Amino acid sequence: MIGSGGREHALCRSLAADPQVTEVHCAPGNAGVAQVATLHPVVPTDPAAVARLAGELGADLVVIGPEAPLVAGVADAVRQAGVPCFGPSAEAARIEGSKAFAKDVMAAAGVPTARSRTCVTPEEAATALDEFGTPYVVKDDGLAAGKGVVVTDDRDEALRHAAACGRVVIEEFLDGPEVSLFALCDGSTAVPLQPAQDHKRAYDGDLGPNTGGMGAYTPLPWAPADLAERVMAETVLPTVTELAGRGTPYTGVLFVGLALTKTGPKVIEFNARFGDPETQVVLDRLDTPLAGLLLACANGTLDRFGPLSYREGAAVTVVVAAENYPADPVKGDAVEGLSDVTGDAYVLHSGTAFDGDRVVSSGGRVLSVVGTGPDVAAAREAAYEAVGRVRLRGSHHRTDIAAQAL
Ligand code: AMP
Repeated sequence: MIGSGGREHALCRSLAADPQVTEVHCAPGNAGVAQVATLHPVVPTDPAAVARLAGELGADLVVIGPEAPLVAGVADAVRQAGVPCFGPSAEAARIEGSKAFAKDVMAAAGVPTARSRTCVTPEEAATALDEFGTPYVVKDDGLAAGKGVVVTDDRDEALRHAAACGRVVIEEFLDGPEVSLFALCDGSTAVPLQPAQDHKRAYDGDLGPNTGGMGAYTPLPWAPADLAERVMAETVLPTVTELAGRGTPYTGVLFVGLALTKTGPKVIEFNARFGDPETQVVLDRLDTPLAGLLLACANGTLDRFGPLSYREGAAVTVVVAAENYPADPVKGDAVEGLSDVTGDAYVLHSGTAFDGDRVVSSGGRVLSVVGTGPDVAAAREAAYEAVGRVRLRGSHHRTDIAAQAL
């Protein structure tokens, strides 16, 4: 496993629980990942170093967590070294790395998404803003870790963002609740995982700055029952077919960020990796052993894999963030009370490190506390009860994760 966040802790935990798995190794990992995997201090964006480590370990499968190693060509290097890899090539990962490329693929594949224009000059940007109207949506064409998007009613602010970015995609605003769907792809076909919802803003009531994600839950009791099936037919399979036809087959997770509009689900964005923190809840519910499933994707044998199974009930995760996250998170504080979390909840580590024997904060998002239960209400209660047991000086978390689902 390549990566070091809560998503990677969740993935390592599920991989380690697969009865076919004998060893899990993670580069670089964190203090929580160390409970389920052997850590290696290898730079995750160094293709040669990752491929070498995979060879030395005799790895049967490499799973890549974050986008940066994908864009750097780590999956290509691992596959070239003869090791099966779950993660798209650098070429295919452009579906996340370039908004303009993603829009081009969607147009060619007939995928429902916002109407858009790619703009370079201020004049082009102004024309596009006036064409689509308010709220204005302006996206940096490059990889911006979720921070390149401005949604605003202020035309000057929209123009300033466009000028600051250079090349931007300006598009129509999509109105409706947002859903994350992960499709596992093997180059020619795909299977969906259970839809989830995350909470991107820092504070309760969807206020404050955008973050990497402050919490998530699954399943979505309010969503149409045929949502995953519909998105597979309208979006995922046409996209996988389009990419294969271009000679850049997609192997890995296609993360579809959707708005459920009045006229159906439309794509807000594609990402080339699992979402954090949705992964923490989706994997909690997945009963199918994970390593065999990801290996089938890496080997192009998903069509022979059979249907996935899920545990009954729900999972909710609440992110405990460091003081001053997302602006300038305080690091190096002791994380305490971890062993007091038991029962229907557990703690995944997002940004932690060892300081001697102590676990200390080392990132903006520090913990993903997961609660489980027979329904969203029970899972939510378990998650918040557990959040009350962990201690990190100055930390903050949202108190309304999954509240809309009740
Ligand atoms: P992205 O980086 O594309 O996920 O955008 C970040 C956030 O901006 C999304 O999660 C949405 O909340 C919002 N957003 C992006 N594009 C649109 C759109 N066309 N309509 C409405 N909201 C959008």
